[in-house]
Amino acid sequence: MKKLSRKCLKWVNFPLPLPGGMMANVGTLLRVSPLVFPQDGLLYTSILRKWGTGGLNQTSIEWGDSPLKNWDGSNRDFPTKKSRTLNPDLIKKTEIVKYHCYSCPLGCGGICSSKGKHAHTHKPEYESILALSGLCMNEDLDSVYYLNDLLNRAGMDTISAGATAAFAIECYEKGILTREDTGGLELTWGNTEAIVALIKKMIEREGIGDLLADGTKAAAKKIGKGSMEFAIQAGGQEPAMHDGRNDPGFNVHYSLEPTPGRHTLGAHLYYEMFQLWKRVKGLPKPSPLYTKGSKYKIDREKARVAAACSKFMSLANGAGMCMFGLFIGAKRIPTFDWLNAASGWTLTPEEYMTIGERIQTLKQAFNIKHGIEPKDNFISARALGKPPQKEGANKGRFVDMEKLAPDYWDQFGWDKATGKPEEETLRRLNIK
Ligand code: SF4
Repeated sequence: MKKLSRKCLKWVNFPLPLPGGMMANVGTLLRVSPLVFPQDGLLYTSILRKWGTGGLNQTSIEWGDSPLKNWDGSNRDFPTKKSRTLNPDLIKKTEIVKYHCYSCPLGCGGICSSKGKHAHTHKPEYESILALSGLCMNEDLDSVYYLNDLLNRAGMDTISAGATAAFAIECYEKGILTREDTGGLELTWGNTEAIVALIKKMIEREGIGDLLADGTKAAAKKIGKGSMEFAIQAGGQEPAMHDGRNDPGFNVHYSLEPTPGRHTLGAHLYYEMFQLWKRVKGLPKPSPLYTKGSKYKIDREKARVAAACSKFMSLANGAGMCMFGLFIGAKRIPTFDWLNAASGWTLTPEEYMTIGERIQTLKQAFNIKHGIEPKDNFISARALGKPPQKEGANKGRFVDMEKLAPDYWDQFGWDKATGKPEEETLRRLNIK
């Protein structure tokens, strides 16, 4: 294992000469270019090493990866003059010390101190930053640090908290929630003081906070009045800050994973970075240059690619590996060889992928046994592009989940109509 690790260390130390101020331009370039090429994860891991996940704040906003204004806005609503407060160099300036998971050479974490209301906090992750800023149209970075710290200490998820605040703001805007309901809070887009007060109420389960503390779906059920349309969720889980209208792979995993709403099992982009086709037989190799439009064409290859990501990440999560390192690529990061070295087994990459498939199938079977209908977990219509956006990076895009789901389920040997694992599949995987 040590030999294998030494061999791949050179890939981890790949330098990144770009300053933080350029990261928005990278996003703009990705947005306007009609042609795309498979992205190499080396760039992403060098961003992680330099800034942590927040390195992509402005890139993602410009590119259309970050959902804005409760998934109804676009990069036009949160242009660079607003997002510049999220420049990763500004965050880096507040970092007192980096931290690493045990023996990790990337070290994406940090402890920060800002001049605002709080002294020390964990460096907020990209997900937390965007959920508490762009999704609520909040430009105040200091409030993001503050809320990140409060939510961490309360054991609450920052993505869900930001998403629920954004949902509440939209309800207020549409007159579904009133000033009386909010306990006097003027709940408008970007009103930092009101957003902070609202989330504090959620933590304390006080007044309107009690209604919102269980997330968007639970709140919309209680509020009614058509508010479910603005409650963006998949199976009751608020999705992460990656827009599936920009990368349809995210919508597949948000909607079809046995643990819905997750961004940590796969995406079109992840498949390119994992480079699994270099180690696992029979997986498709992306074309070196393709049109952006082809990403939205629903075909069987999309399902194959998504299923490969789910199997690989189920294996990796099961083995306690970090997804960020795996972005460096399967040929450079010796995932399968490490597992053989650690276990004394001599399994092939394909056999390891079957372990991932078994984990995934067991989780799906568990859900079915407990009465969960996989189709009920599809992400909210707005996040699929129904209706499509009229402007911005994701203008006109729609992901047809009804068409995609049968092929994805079929990749695992699950019933194409219901998502239920077939008897034969359970037998093949030895989990009958
Ligand atoms: S193991 Fe992953 S999460 Fe932990 S410091 Fe390394 S890159 Fe970051």
